[in-house]
Amino acid sequence: MPRPIRATVSAGAFAHNLLVAKAYAGRAKVWAVLKANAYGHGLERAARALEGADGFAVLDFQEAARLRLAGVAKPILMLEGFFKPVDLPLLAKYALTPVIHNPEQVEQLRAADLGGEIDVYLKLNSGMNRLGFSVDNLRAAYNSVRMHRQVRSVTLMSHFADADGPGGVQAQVGWLEEMARPIEGLAQAPRSLANSAALIRFPDTRFDWVRPGIMLYGCSPFGGTGASQTAAQLDLKPVMTLTSELIATQHLQAGERIGYGFSYEAVGEMTIGVVACGYADGYPRHAPTGTPVLVNGKRTRTVGRVSMDMICVDISDIHDAYIGSPVTLWGEGLSADEVATAAGTVSYELLCALAQRVPVAETA
Ligand SMILES: *Cc1c(COP(=O)(O)O)cnc(C)c1O
Repeated sequence: MPRPIRATVSAGAFAHNLLVAKAYAGRAKVWAVLKANAYGHGLERAARALEGADGFAVLDFQEAARLRLAGVAKPILMLEGFFKPVDLPLLAKYALTPVIHNPEQVEQLRAADLGGEIDVYLKLNSGMNRLGFSVDNLRAAYNSVRMHRQVRSVTLMSHFADADGPGGVQAQVGWLEEMARPIEGLAQAPRSLANSAALIRFPDTRFDWVRPGIMLYGCSPFGGTGASQTAAQLDLKPVMTLTSELIATQHLQAGERIGYGFSYEAVGEMTIGVVACGYADGYPRHAPTGTPVLVNGKRTRTVGRVSMDMICVDISDIHDAYIGSPVTLWGEGLSADEVATAAGTVSYELLCALAQRVPVAETA
């Protein structure tokens, strides 16, 4: 028998979440963001389940090639554009839409015969200061890209830094308007701005194409415990469920300790279950004592440090828990947002970090 840990990925939850995103999107088209192996869910599997999207967004040329090989005919957005001139022939070959965000890319594109026509996204830095053109070089970039005889269309793109936080999007939208307005052509170009958080909170940012990621995977862009809107409140269904089983139990007396560093001390008599799941499976090592977990469908908490291959959980009050009892680390019944919050991170990181060694099964 293999180790009992496994992840299930629900095609039905994917399809449901896409409908939720589309309802928010209204008339805007939807790029389903599938970067990072579809946030750990499996690229081809996600593309199949999300076939109702208008296009798919990835980072890596290998991911784009895999989508085409899998028969995907819809537009593919390359979120960081091309990296080196050797990538350029792949754009027309695979019908990819690169995001052009720096002057080096503009220069390389200008001189290139692409071997066919492509659509291009031009990324504007509206204040996040990560990728994109600033007020100093936006006009030159736009004119150069637009003039290329093999560029069919240019869409204006930007990304929000705090659509999920107190900062909101207002300042960035203001900057963007100010920068684009004086540039003939660009001011009227189609736009793509919104990630999941903006799509949900700021309908004015939808424009022509929206770019939801995390909500398609059934997590809330606003986090877990204490979030303004949880995944359940947003009617999002968890796509990935990570489960395992108890492989041992221990009975402790007060004062006995658990795991590496002896970091947890039993305050009274207690029963501990040992779960076949550790940080080498993608469970966050920083998850402290008290991180929520389900055993036999009942909610309890982790105790002591997360090991490479195991975690310990308190089953003192779960009297029907034995070796072989099912454990849910996150997903159906326990939102990854909640686990992430307890571990001081975001659900994005948990999902993306699912380890290669965990077998993934698809469910309806
Ligand atoms: C990852 C990403 C998204 C999706 O963001 P979510 O918060 O997962 O919805 C959208 N746009 C860009 C440019 C991204 O890199």
